[in-house]
Amino acid sequence: MLYSSTQNAAEQVSAAQAISQGISKDGGLFVPQDFPRYDEADFRSLLKMDYRDRAKKIFAGFLTDFTEDEIAECVDKAYTAAKFGGENPAPIAYTKLGGKSLNVLELWHGPTCAFKDMALQILPHLLTKSLKKTYDGKDAVILVATSGDTGKAALEGFKDVEHTKIIVFYPVNGVSPMQKHQMNTQEGENVRVCAIKGNFDDAQTGVKKIFTTPSVAEKLAENNMLFSSANSINWGRLLPQVVYYISAYCDLVNDGKIAFGDAINVVVPTGNFGNILASYYACLMGLPIKKFICASNANNVLTDFINTGIYDKNRHFFTTMSPSMDILVSSNLERLLYQLSGKDDKMTKQWMTELKSTGKYEVTDEVKSLMKEKFFGGFCDDGQTQATINRLFKEDHYLCDTHTAVAVNVYEQYVAQTGDTTPSLIVSTASPYKFSRSVLEAVSPDGILPLTEFEMVDALHELTGMPVPAPLANLKNKTARFSDVIKSDQMSDYVLNALSIE
Ligand SMILES: *Cc1c(COP(=O)(O)O)cnc(C)c1O
Repeated sequence: MLYSSTQNAAEQVSAAQAISQGISKDGGLFVPQDFPRYDEADFRSLLKMDYRDRAKKIFAGFLTDFTEDEIAECVDKAYTAAKFGGENPAPIAYTKLGGKSLNVLELWHGPTCAFKDMALQILPHLLTKSLKKTYDGKDAVILVATSGDTGKAALEGFKDVEHTKIIVFYPVNGVSPMQKHQMNTQEGENVRVCAIKGNFDDAQTGVKKIFTTPSVAEKLAENNMLFSSANSINWGRLLPQVVYYISAYCDLVNDGKIAFGDAINVVVPTGNFGNILASYYACLMGLPIKKFICASNANNVLTDFINTGIYDKNRHFFTTMSPSMDILVSSNLERLLYQLSGKDDKMTKQWMTELKSTGKYEVTDEVKSLMKEKFFGGFCDDGQTQATINRLFKEDHYLCDTHTAVAVNVYEQYVAQTGDTTPSLIVSTASPYKFSRSVLEAVSPDGILPLTEFEMVDALHELTGMPVPAPLANLKNKTARFSDVIKSDQMSDYVLNALSIE
């Protein structure tokens, strides 16, 4: 299996190369040249497996330059019961709302309580093995721009991993207090955390710029280092996400919620478009998905794009209570466009160039209609988000976080508009305790809010009885190690400084 760039189909690299490099030299993203097609027997064989064995089988189809033992080692180290609080790292909760049943895929049982763990617990293992195959002897410097959850999950995944260093940048006012505390208290000898004056897009643009500045790369090379990415543009982030869609489908069948072969819809709270893209890739492998429901918050650039075919980031940036979706440039959309345009690398490159220069592009009628056929876009504001949390808790005592609530709200809009009764999988991306203030306010609108973050955690626990995940409870007594705040044009100096390079 080889990988091409979305902006140069002639480029051919191995999986290890794609994972080590993160992004193609031409600025495009790596995509598999073909997807393994599963037939009925393949899917039936997965039904009987546990999550780890399903992951091993799926990985093997994409990482053809890895041995079976290497894949098994990566998977077994990443998805332990100890790290994910149980044998199935991605369990489905069955709840209901408005009398209709909801299948909620909980992806936040990992060490940092957000779905990013599903990929970032395994990425360091994939990356160190990939580096050995491609750049033996070099140390990887992982640069991360985060809207909150990626940063912590990457820090936790890479902490004290040999031959790696990790530097995380986050928007100083763009993450929740819990997310900030999680990052600033991070342990490990090879980690650095720094806030940026600006929003997530500024941080992401800054990181991309460092990646593509030749003089910086040269300085690293002189010191036997190279940059790599833990953002969802890295193929090693996306592949692990394909697994849980296929695994969840098997669980729905095994739990008697659907019959084998039935189609489902997926509903995904979306920011950078990585998570929903992984479900699309699962569909390309043969998983029967009818509709991809893309849920956004007030930053509804994707809703408009799905409805009009015009992507336009020239709009107000809202800071919402679902900060991990406060994004106006959805990087992974590029991969969908490449696929929908029939792998047209020139077209994809043109759109991305227009996006860079004008902040806007319009896709062809053909791509528009293909997109409309498979995707539904919707959004809701903070008030609707909290109302949804409130109803779900009142009706069935199910507590969800703000991002998941956006997905539930948009799913209800979808059903109201279309009458589609296809069983749906709602993707739940974070523990409610990562956003305690907003969730507490939602379930107890007339209550008085306590002062500190951890008092809110306690109050939410008292009110709902839902257990506080241990990794969050344990943060209470930790003191911050990091407090740097810089301007986004100081990022490359900051990086060289952190690496002790002149
Ligand atoms: C990252 C994140 C999202 C958005 O996922 P994408 O793959 O970037 O679309 C949604 N919810 C939470 C809690 C997240 O951390």
